[in-house]
Amino acid sequence: MLLNCIFERMNSQEVQSIQQLLSKPQKVVIIPHKNPDGDAIGSSLGLCHYLRQKGHDTTVIVPNDFPKFLKWMPGTEGILNYEWEQGNAQTVIQDASVVFTLDFNDLSRTGHMEPALRKLSAPMVMIDHHQAPHDYATIMYSDVSMSSTSEMVYNFIEALGDQELINPEIANCLYAGILTDTGSFKFATTTSRTHRVVANLIDKGAKNADIHNKIFDTNTPERLRLLGCALNNMVIIPEYHTAYITLSQEELDAHNFRKGDTEGFVNYGLTLEHIFFAAIFIENRDEGIIKISFRSEGDFSVNTFARDHFQGGGHKNAAGGRSERTLEDTALHFKKLLESYKSELAK
Ligand code: 5GP
Ligand code: MN
Repeated sequence: MLLNCIFERMNSQEVQSIQQLLSKPQKVVIIPHKNPDGDAIGSSLGLCHYLRQKGHDTTVIVPNDFPKFLKWMPGTEGILNYEWEQGNAQTVIQDASVVFTLDFNDLSRTGHMEPALRKLSAPMVMIDHHQAPHDYATIMYSDVSMSSTSEMVYNFIEALGDQELINPEIANCLYAGILTDTGSFKFATTTSRTHRVVANLIDKGAKNADIHNKIFDTNTPERLRLLGCALNNMVIIPEYHTAYITLSQEELDAHNFRKGDTEGFVNYGLTLEHIFFAAIFIENRDEGIIKISFRSEGDFSVNTFARDHFQGGGHKNAAGGRSERTLEDTALHFKKLLESYKSELAK
């Protein structure tokens, strides 16, 4: 039975189906999206610690590696990386009796894991806040108004009546996920409820000051200089209230680039007065693509823009995509596209 839930919190039918599913010990696999970010890892590990306490044999499998500034999270050491341990990961997936997919809305977001997941007959539970979710899950807890999947995992635990099971491990992971996906509680999706959830997580043992420090204050000199290079490359187009950054593979190599180093760079464009649309184009020679991040402030939907022009998607104000053109051609193509959005961007 497919249950759609696009409501504010989980509905009772959904809660009942999940309670039934988890009424006996299960072999659970939790999967976040490719290139997992703070919310993907925080929500997956938070849910993992909770389900283990409930007696379920639970494993988190990531499609590929994630940044070092997230590797302090409790449970990181037990995560399987599909790219590095494919055989082992495939066995665990095939043995799973329940699969949770977290922080994505379309199985293609799992990269090379997609074929293995499509073959599964085990029930799938989606917990996610991205727009336009695909219909692959048996139980869907999808709410695009939510700040983060981590906040939804909190709701999930609460809906199952298990708030008292939230221990410091769960609290630290969920706090980190909410912190990163809300841009430190400043994006428009941050509600009073988000702050209440975060306050409860602090009461349950989340070390908030420590977490901020571990995530944001672990810069290396190379990363700061790469930021300098990125800001130097920034092109500002006042006419379209837009700013974009390019980073070539050569520039990344010259700064000893490590996964996660460019996290947050795209946001600098939006800190300019009168700039409401920002983009970053990052060359990835290994994959033969330009990886793109889009951000906006206000009504301009980067989700639609990324979906329509760059094989991507995400949220209204934060989305991603890709291009198979060269870095220069991608930037040119982007600038050309802006012309047809002139009136929308002028608002
Ligand atoms: P970021 O720019 O930080 O990589 O991603 C911003 C948001 O867009 C995240 O919610 C992320 O999941 C989503 N996103 C990033 N890249 C892609 C993509 O290639 N396809 C889709 N559908 N979503 C993406
Ligand atoms: Mn998220």
